[in-house]
Amino acid sequence: MSELDGQVEQLVEKNQELADRERMYQKVFKSAVGAFLYCSFEKRTIFILGQWTEYFDFDIREMQGLSKLLDTVDESYAMRLREVLFLETTGEETATAECLMKDKRSWMQFCVKVYYDGAGQPADKVIYINNITRLRSQNEELTYMAYYDSLTGLYNRNYYVRLLSEYIRNASEYGHAVSIMIIDIDDFKNINDGQGIVIGDELVQQFGCFIKELCEENIIACHLHSDVYCMAIYDPNGKVCIDSLHKAIDKRLKEPFKLSGGQEIMITVSIGAAEYPDAAMSALELINCAEIAVFKGKSMGKDTIHYFDTSVKEDFLGTIELEDKLKKAIANSNFILYYQPQYYTGSRQLRGVEALIRWQDEDSHFIQPSVFIPAAERNGTIIPIGKWVVEQSVKQYAIWRQQFGFPFIMSINISALQYKKDDFVDSVVNTLNKYGVSPSEIELEITESVLIEDFDAVYEKIKLLKEYGIRISLDDFGTGFSSLAYLTRLPIDTLKVDKTFIDTVLTDSTTRVITESIIHMVKALKFESIAEGVEDEEQYGYLKIIGCDVIQGYLFSKPLSPVEMEHVLRKGK
Ligand code: C2E
Ligand code: MG
Ligand code: MG
Repeated sequence: MSELDGQVEQLVEKNQELADRERMYQKVFKSAVGAFLYCSFEKRTIFILGQWTEYFDFDIREMQGLSKLLDTVDESYAMRLREVLFLETTGEETATAECLMKDKRSWMQFCVKVYYDGAGQPADKVIYINNITRLRSQNEELTYMAYYDSLTGLYNRNYYVRLLSEYIRNASEYGHAVSIMIIDIDDFKNINDGQGIVIGDELVQQFGCFIKELCEENIIACHLHSDVYCMAIYDPNGKVCIDSLHKAIDKRLKEPFKLSGGQEIMITVSIGAAEYPDAAMSALELINCAEIAVFKGKSMGKDTIHYFDTSVKEDFLGTIELEDKLKKAIANSNFILYYQPQYYTGSRQLRGVEALIRWQDEDSHFIQPSVFIPAAERNGTIIPIGKWVVEQSVKQYAIWRQQFGFPFIMSINISALQYKKDDFVDSVVNTLNKYGVSPSEIELEITESVLIEDFDAVYEKIKLLKEYGIRISLDDFGTGFSSLAYLTRLPIDTLKVDKTFIDTVLTDSTTRVITESIIHMVKALKFESIAEGVEDEEQYGYLKIIGCDVIQGYLFSKPLSPVEMEHVLRKGK
């Protein structure tokens, strides 16, 4: 073969290689999400790659053409976009602009990278354009829900408690007072039952809007739950007080609420008021005192305002038979733990169990924790009860671990008050040592309310528990959302998406968007996600598709007595 033939062959090979490479790049860019522009400064040309035609109905072939992109965005974003598109004028290498488009609905992200030659002159640049409309709306939704109640537009409970805690911190520093009032619509149940929940909701919303109008610099308000609102005043100058707000509310209630269906509804409210520092020293306790005052007021007739004082509290506690019974129940060991299995979504294998307390009264009736745990938290009996729960669940776990020979996770619910005890961490660790249980097989569940009042103190305890190797999970996530901001800072292992989300995930598109965002966020943060309260196959199928790790709910199993749970364990993992 002549030398020339050899060179031709080499050229053909090179050409083939180049053509293959070209095909490969084309395919890669075509399958990538987004559009790319490659700009060469030397040739002053531009190549279009990727999904360009999905986004724009024009071409750009040379440098000046880039200005066409400025016409596609909303005017207020054009200047920022110009800076980014022509980044080489500043000598910078990379920049990003997120722009609202002309249609005022969609959002695009423009990322630019400029490559400079050895002499520092721009050689070429790549512009990557991506549609981020969905991401933006998810983020906006999540941020909104972190602070506000979607029905009334008032603050949500958790964020409000944080703001109230701040009021109290300031007040304690300067020796001021903070007043709060709980406003409860009288006979709301009759309206809801009689006229339907749509009308009930509209009334709650309209009254919420009115409450919002009363808020100003020193006044905040939240929608506490159903037909109950809470307002707080921190006004050292004394211009506004409970009385002035009460008068404003009274005046408004002389007129009916006009609903969209034409109905006109007159309402009255019962108000309970309490003041820091006289009634209580913390936000949650203060709300609790105002709740007691409403309760007391309602028992004496409606359309009242009742101020909290210690005699109200003693009176209240004295009349609550439940709390007395609780104390006796501790003495008589009338508690029992049930266990609800949790299963991995993909393999359907057992991941662990959650210990759930039940109270068996003298007639062997079961009293559910939602009835007695709040009372136990109120009068402090949760401390001995909680201690018993930790001891009993760890002991039971040690027995099952030995009997069945495989590890799983024992999840234990812990109340805010328990975390506040100085010896909490030591007492958990001592219990694990006593029964020879590995910390990595125990998970403590905390709720957002534990975090909101005193994040730093609880954070330190959680960190310590983690150092011992104990798992931490965030329970009922989504009910308040205020912990969203904490999530990245919290050393947790697991996040439990609350049942209220699972209930409507298939029927409500907003819930769906938020649930998917939560699951994605959990993945990004490398936590494990558990869906609570999964009751049917459709919910399970959907949660599996969106990548939720673990399922807990009646679909797989109700909470089981120890004997029933043993049957499950006997069948193996
Ligand atoms: P949680 O920790 O969120 O527990 C899950 C609750 O959802 C349990 O209610 C469970 O029985 C229920 N559940 C699970 N799957 C389903 C389902 O598919 N459908 C329905 N409708 N419900 C389902 P439970 O046992 O009544 O407990 C209520 C709450 O009481 C618990 O909520 C927890 O906050 C508290 N609690 C229970 N045991 C303890 C305890 O030992 N200590 C403390 N501090 N709190 C506890
Ligand atoms: Mg729980
Ligand atoms: Mg829960």
